Amino acid sequence: MTDAIVIGAGPAGTAAAIGLARAGAKVLLLERSRETGDTLCGGFLSWQSLARLDALGIDRAALGGQQVGRVRLFAGSRRSETSLPQAAMGVSRRRLDSVLQAAAVAAGAELQRGVHATTIDGQTVQTRDGATLAAPALFLAAGKHGFRGQPREVAPWQQHDPVMGLRLRLPHHAALDRLIGDAVELHLFDRGYAGLVQQEDGSANLCLATHKSRLDEAGGDPGALLRALGAAHPMLGERLAYADWSCGIDAIGHVPYGWRTADTEPGLFRLGDQAGVIPSLAGEGMGLALASGDAAAAAWRHGGAGAAPVFQHQLAARMARPFAIANVVWRAGENPRTAGVLTALSSSFPSLVRWMSQATRIAAG
Ligand SMILES: Cc1cc2nc3c(=O)[nH]c(=O)nc-3n(C[C@H](O)[C@H](O)[C@H](O)COP(=O)(O)OP(=O)(O)OC[C@H]3O[C@@H](n4cnc5c(N)ncnc54)[C@H](O)[C@@H]3O)c2cc1C
Repeated sequence: MTDAIVIGAGPAGTAAAIGLARAGAKVLLLERSRETGDTLCGGFLSWQSLARLDALGIDRAALGGQQVGRVRLFAGSRRSETSLPQAAMGVSRRRLDSVLQAAAVAAGAELQRGVHATTIDGQTVQTRDGATLAAPALFLAAGKHGFRGQPREVAPWQQHDPVMGLRLRLPHHAALDRLIGDAVELHLFDRGYAGLVQQEDGSANLCLATHKSRLDEAGGDPGALLRALGAAHPMLGERLAYADWSCGIDAIGHVPYGWRTADTEPGLFRLGDQAGVIPSLAGEGMGLALASGDAAAAAWRHGGAGAAPVFQHQLAARMARPFAIANVVWRAGENPRTAGVLTALSSSFPSLVRWMSQATRIAAG
């Protein structure tokens, strides 16, 4: 009999599957995509996320990512650069998810690809191809998109102008090596930011979180929005000059930044973005995903399926402080007046940046 069904083989689902399988559970890991691709994500792995990967027994060298030691902020004509508290990494989601999925399978989980879960009802999961799967414990790790029957409401102030994510890969170029190097860059602009980091193959991952009104002003065309931002912000424009526009731009709408839940029902563990969505400016979404998967497996080990409500409550409490600080920093960053002040302060007080970087991490459980 299957002990646990995990829905979604991203960082949260695979971390849970690894912990459960190593504890002796018979685990079914469902993933809707047939091949591992590059999810819309900044690709910045914080030092805390790296430590969680170490604890899962994932070899950092197998990721082969780009070492990241600094954070660079741009706002209008201002710029600051600060060393991070510890070394981080830039790595593509294709690489990270592939390595984690392989570890889950090696631990004994059964990975079924091309299986799209549509609804959860008690101990059963319905799939798009009409199958009904059952297990005493369900782990919902379906990530960025909402899951039917499991609402993720946005804060009232986001409702009139929702946040969306965009991603463009910039192919490897020696000039980008020189411009970005071992830094993660945050280009702040009115109603959004663009994050830029190099990955294991030398390409750079450009990820934007911005309000929909910005896209509307660009006629709904993500490419036109990026070009307009590049024209208005020369440092960003300098980097976008190396874009290969034929690669396509990934987009996702309605990202409910700041939402988190303490509620669930016995038998249902909500993980990663299905438990809480930390503003991505903090670069801690994957850390949260890994931490939640790990903690859910530990809760199941000690209390079985009935431990889900207590687990959810404790996870929500762990998220409170980093979410509050990440929200404040993100809102300051997307307002041109405060973004300039933030960048100037970062330049004068590097310890402030290091404090913010630490304070937005999810603490150990
Ligand atoms: C613009 C932007 C930039 C970001 N940048 C960073 C960053 O630099 N660093 C960082 O740490 N975090 C970043 N994040 C946050 C990070 O991407 C997420 O928090 C993280 O991916 C959550 O992991 P997850 O496992 O919960 O979900 P996901 O990574 O979304 O994985 C979910 C998995 O479930 C699968 N799935 C979905 N639905 C179903 C279904 N119905 N049935 C079966 N399978 C399903 C998906 O195919 C996917 O494989 C960013 C987010 C955004 C929006």
